[in-house]
Amino acid sequence: MSDDPRTLRLLSLATVVAVAWILQRLFPFSRRPGNVRVNTALFVAGGVVTALACGLCMVWASQRAREANIGLFNLVDAPAVLSFPVTVAGLDLVSYWWHRVNHRVGVLWRFHQVHHSDTALTVSTAARFHPGELLLSFPLRLTAIVLLGAPAHAVVMFEAIFNGFNYFEHADIGEGRTIERVAGAVFIVPSLHRRHHVARTRELNSNFGTIFSLWDRLFGTFGPGPAKEGYRVGLPGTVKAPGVAAALLMPVRAQALVPPDQAG
Ligand SMILES: [Zn+2]
Ligand SMILES: [Zn+2]
Repeated sequence: MSDDPRTLRLLSLATVVAVAWILQRLFPFSRRPGNVRVNTALFVAGGVVTALACGLCMVWASQRAREANIGLFNLVDAPAVLSFPVTVAGLDLVSYWWHRVNHRVGVLWRFHQVHHSDTALTVSTAARFHPGELLLSFPLRLTAIVLLGAPAHAVVMFEAIFNGFNYFEHADIGEGRTIERVAGAVFIVPSLHRRHHVARTRELNSNFGTIFSLWDRLFGTFGPGPAKEGYRVGLPGTVKAPGVAAALLMPVRAQALVPPDQAG
């Protein structure tokens, strides 16, 4: 099997999208049709921008930190059985706080609201990010990799797991309360992230995690998945999802200007 991070990334992405899509077909929660066309266009736009700005920069940062002998795991001799899980958990924790800041700081919310403007949650929503939000996240992610001295293979593994959870938890899967209780005790499952997309401030400001639900439990932002009755996804006060051009222009023509974490 290829060891090239790009090939591994593509293979893991294709696999997880296929599995999430099949589960979404077999065990649907709401059966609402998704905005696949717009989400795919944003996926392509985001892919082009990030490939140009930071194709393999996470792995590159890890390798440079190793050469310069900086960062925790370049200073402390730790076995992979320790450095790998700490890298995955550490980078997921950084993502949790970055997500929370996106809901609090106006300029970041202008970009992040594009993700929340989808009015149906399906696998494709996982790809619905404004390219600007992806770009803005790089400095923090790169800094975290350097400070951790995260091994390159652990970074690749983190990206695969993180992307896997991202696609899986956006799928319209009704996994049921038992799975939500058992798997959701540690991990983010579809019903838990579904709550984060409900068009109400209280739910929007909960369940910020991507891989682990532990961060939400630890920092007081955890909440159970929504009931099917009265379930509505999107930005508070809007009913229609924007098209491609409108979504790309949202940061400058923002409809929901007040970040939800300041809406009270
Ligand atoms: Zn959010
Ligand atoms: Zn989401």
